[in-house]
Amino acid sequence: MQTPADLIVILGTGGTIAGTAKTASDGVGYTAAQLRVEDLLAAVPALQGRRLEAHQIAQLDSKDMDFTTWQRLAQQVDAQLSRPEVKGVVVTHGTDTVEETAYFLQRVLAPNKPVVMTAAMRPATALQADGPQNLLDAVVVASDVYASGVLFAFAGAIHSAEQLRKVHSYRIDAFDSAEGARLGVIEEGRVRWHLRTALPLAPLGLARVDRPAAQWPRVQILMNHVGADGAIVRALIAEGVDGLVVAGTGNGTLSASLDAALREAQAQGVRVLRSTRCDAGPVMELPGLLPSAGSLSPVKARIELILALLA
Ligand code: ASP
Repeated sequence: MQTPADLIVILGTGGTIAGTAKTASDGVGYTAAQLRVEDLLAAVPALQGRRLEAHQIAQLDSKDMDFTTWQRLAQQVDAQLSRPEVKGVVVTHGTDTVEETAYFLQRVLAPNKPVVMTAAMRPATALQADGPQNLLDAVVVASDVYASGVLFAFAGAIHSAEQLRKVHSYRIDAFDSAEGARLGVIEEGRVRWHLRTALPLAPLGLARVDRPAAQWPRVQILMNHVGADGAIVRALIAEGVDGLVVAGTGNGTLSASLDAALREAQAQGVRVLRSTRCDAGPVMELPGLLPSAGSLSPVKARIELILALLA
């Protein structure tokens, strides 16, 4: 008899969802990444009785997420998804960089099975912690028959790795999908899909990211703003940067001085991508301008450039 593919594997990486504070009323002065993933599961009675397996991959405040952890996580996710009995994977993560980790996993693995990331804005010890509901919702999404690819389940909504953005520093509903492109909602333990995901780009594969993290290309992000003079670009060229993503104003526009400095960088072999500091909207590719990052936010354009330079 065939084993049913109904196992959900939960991978813990830390974050506020695993955070604790000294008092239940403290929603800000807490320490992230304290509880193990098994403890998070134990706080959700509705998950008892489901086929789950939990593994701790890291225990980090996601502001300190690093390339080595990304490699380990991508390998683990890939290994778990390849088990026939696994229906999907849930990854608990900090909110600060979850959009980057989600995009990285999507580009490297582009999995057919779902990888549902989730997080919390309040620590596990808060009077009204949001982590348990988000974790339950993530398991619901990972179990859904239509779910695939890297998703984010948070505050009752489902976002794609491509569109996900943190849009508020402390509000409980801190995430959105750029241009309103939420994929669906979770309602009382059921998923209601709004949109089908656009056809994902082909996976780049784990071999692309197997180089030791210390040898990964150095790609930095800078911004256009009033008086941007290009001094940062020259400093970065001097210290050997490999790639630069510039968060331009509006449709990726740059001050004349910043544009000139970035062209100098390009002439010296530094790869440059032009994104926008706006919250949404693509940067149009136009003849004669520095290459556009399309609709990628600056942090995701940086990942794209790192992956391109790793090729
Ligand atoms: N600094 C925390 C983290 O990203 C914030 C959070 O999880 O909400 O790990």
